[in-house]
Amino acid sequence: NTSQSNQASKQHILLIGAGLCGSLLALRLGQRGYKVTVMEMRPDLRKVDISAGRSINLALSNRGIKAINLVGLWDKVKPLCIPMNGRMLHDTAGNTTFAPYSGRDHEYINSISRGMLNALLLDEAEKHENVSIYFNRKCDSVDFENTTAHFTNLDNQEQLNQTANIIIATDGAGSAMRQSYFLSRKFLFSFSQEYLTHGYKELTILPGKNGSYKTDKNVLHIWGREAFMLIALPNLDGSFTVTLFLSYNEGEYNFNNLTTKERVLAFFTAYFKDALDLMPNLVDDFFTNPTAPLGTVKCAPWHYKGNTLLMGDAAHAIVPFYGQGMNASFEDVVEFDKVLDAEHDSWEAIFTAYEKTRKKDTDAIADLAIDNFYEMKGHVNHPNFREKRTLEMALEKTFPEAYASKYSLVTFNETIGYREAMMRGRAQDKAILNMLADQTITKVNNLSDTELKETLQKVNAETEAILEDDRIAGLK
Ligand code: FAD
Repeated sequence: NTSQSNQASKQHILLIGAGLCGSLLALRLGQRGYKVTVMEMRPDLRKVDISAGRSINLALSNRGIKAINLVGLWDKVKPLCIPMNGRMLHDTAGNTTFAPYSGRDHEYINSISRGMLNALLLDEAEKHENVSIYFNRKCDSVDFENTTAHFTNLDNQEQLNQTANIIIATDGAGSAMRQSYFLSRKFLFSFSQEYLTHGYKELTILPGKNGSYKTDKNVLHIWGREAFMLIALPNLDGSFTVTLFLSYNEGEYNFNNLTTKERVLAFFTAYFKDALDLMPNLVDDFFTNPTAPLGTVKCAPWHYKGNTLLMGDAAHAIVPFYGQGMNASFEDVVEFDKVLDAEHDSWEAIFTAYEKTRKKDTDAIADLAIDNFYEMKGHVNHPNFREKRTLEMALEKTFPEAYASKYSLVTFNETIGYREAMMRGRAQDKAILNMLADQTITKVNNLSDTELKETLQKVNAETEAILEDDRIAGLK
């Protein structure tokens, strides 16, 4: 609306970091009429062939798509997506089992190239003349009392200062502004960073002849081996990006002791033989590509005095096992946009309202992502877990409106927050696993509609009882 954009045009917003969150936010704020300056540390990924940073491809799902729709870009993003309908579980002998993500056919996740998505968002943001993006500008610190960020121009090593009405740091898990909050000791800033004992390394299954796919395309492949796991997501060119998650120093095989070609081949031959057969380039990739750590960052408050705010991974970095880090960072933009619509009378009020609604949800997805680390590595192979999933798929298929698993609530139901999805999803899991254990449920395969309906009623009743206990215990 005109009055809003008139007001907006008088406000100058500085964004630090033009990754996935920063470029989407720049576009949205540009659309709203703000004057936006974005400073990005790395070269322009549309011009220089740099690894886009972090994972080469990612899973985009409903919460992320909601944000893409907000900026009107779904028509351009959709062609970049490869639907993945479920997990293809590979056992040590090379047998595969397909485990759908949902009993509803229209629910799937999408593999997308980080570089292509980031480039598209930058292109669209730059179409707005009120948005300027500068590359090779590294933020060193933020003087948040004076709303000024200090940068090094990496082209010539000059120092520069940039002042704005507000600064939003979207500079990722190692945020420079968050570090300035931490070091300042000017206010009570809580911060935690927890590393997993596991790191990750990216590998590749190259395309087959004429860009064909060497294994099933429309799935997320998982080789779960309890202590470690391998996953693979498809790319548009017929290749797959494969990620090995492995301990740095525990177990017979770990990143610290996989130091020779022979050991790497012995490890893959013993545990991932069918994957190895598709990766003649394994050893080269293994010793060329970096090993990187994984961790969770939580902090509070995200804002200070109404002039600076943290968003995306800078505020809440999570481990990648729910495929939700980018989705959550994109959803941040949607939530922030809603708060802007509410027409609060100061940035401080906007930031406070935003953090109040958002933080409980990003805390929840951080915890869910850790849960899924254990689920993907091992639980997916346990009979009880598989029985629960079989039952849940049947319930979702037969009663698409009445049942949604935890995975579906988190991944496909963008109308509820992560926190609500977590509470209900965990209660349902507990309900079903308890009832399988005490034999209240004895059958999960080939149930008649009447039997399924009875089971649904039992599961729902038990879930409500557990939720009620949680409420009494103060968990809600
Ligand atoms: P980033 O994308 O990290 O962007 C930060 C930007 O800031 C970068 O461009 C960086 O160069 C710049 N920057 C950093 N420091 C400075 C500085 N000092 N000055 C200026 N600029 C700076 N999420 C999903 O939703 N689905 C997935 O399947 C998925 N898979 C993942 C797999 C792996 C292995 C990892 C590590 C993450 C995965 N994620 C996934 C999470 C996702 O990558 C992040 O949540 C997402 O990138 C966050 O976006 P962001 O813009 O906040 O941070």
